Amino acid sequence: MQSINQFVELPLFAEKNITVVIKREDLLHPFISGNKFRKLKYNILAAQAQGKSTILTFGGAYSNHIAATAYAAKENGLKAIGVIRGEELQNSWQRNTTLQKAHEDGMRFKFISREAYRQKEEENFIERLKNEFGEFYLVPEGGTNSSAIKGCEEIITQNDEQFNIICCSVGTGGTVSGVINASVLQQRIIGFSALKGDFLNAEIQKMVKKENWEVNNDFHFGGYAKVTEELVRFINDFKQKTQIPLDPIYTGKMMFGLYQMIKLDTFAPGTKILAIHTGGLQGITGMNSILKKKNLPLLHI
Ligand SMILES: *Cc1c(COP(=O)(O)O)cnc(C)c1O
Repeated sequence: MQSINQFVELPLFAEKNITVVIKREDLLHPFISGNKFRKLKYNILAAQAQGKSTILTFGGAYSNHIAATAYAAKENGLKAIGVIRGEELQNSWQRNTTLQKAHEDGMRFKFISREAYRQKEEENFIERLKNEFGEFYLVPEGGTNSSAIKGCEEIITQNDEQFNIICCSVGTGGTVSGVINASVLQQRIIGFSALKGDFLNAEIQKMVKKENWEVNNDFHFGGYAKVTEELVRFINDFKQKTQIPLDPIYTGKMMFGLYQMIKLDTFAPGTKILAIHTGGLQGITGMNSILKKKNLPLLHI
């Protein structure tokens, strides 16, 4: 399955003679957003091949991965369990649009404290989950494992060899690793980190063999899921001018960063850039409820 490449037409890009094309992975599926579709594909097949009838995974309250896993499991006749960070959600999850939709899609939840959540990779924690729920196929937080990386390699096609630069948002690094694997050596891959801290370089290094990439840590806006008024205004303005919606946690920050870099003449005139729209639009409603409480401008839907 291939998503469409779309020109991003903005005066700055024309003025600098830079071609920016966005790969609309957000349009791949109405509910299994962008890269999560790619990451789940081979995991679902592996679960089925192993004869597992349940998928268990982890995530936060607004997680695109939780939403995607719930729907993908349903679509493939599997049961889904979401282990969700935050005990306090036990009594309020019905007001969270991400969790509400995942529940509608048949996902069962287990809410755990932030401390317990930190142990989620430990063997005896997983053993206890097996005692509670029976056998399951485990997908790690964010969905990143070798099957996920293999799926993300399919984001890039032969036709994309024409681009000099490929930009991709980074959470766990699984998606950008797939993109790096599928790239050609003359291309440069820039991963825009959505997280604070510079541990992602080392993480990605474990998943790839090539060296034609870098992680940019300048546009996380204070950390994961942190947003500023400037970012919200950029996303709204971008949508108004291009008709392309961006999410505030990943793709909005990537595009903001790319825009700044072009403005600062980071790339030579004539450079052709492919930016990957990894999806995540389901999170906008949840983010707007947070923005409203903080009296910040809302994202246009
Ligand atoms: C999860 C997600 C990412 C990050 O993907 P990783 O493989 O964890 O790096 C990027 N963009 C969107 C929209 C996502 O939902």
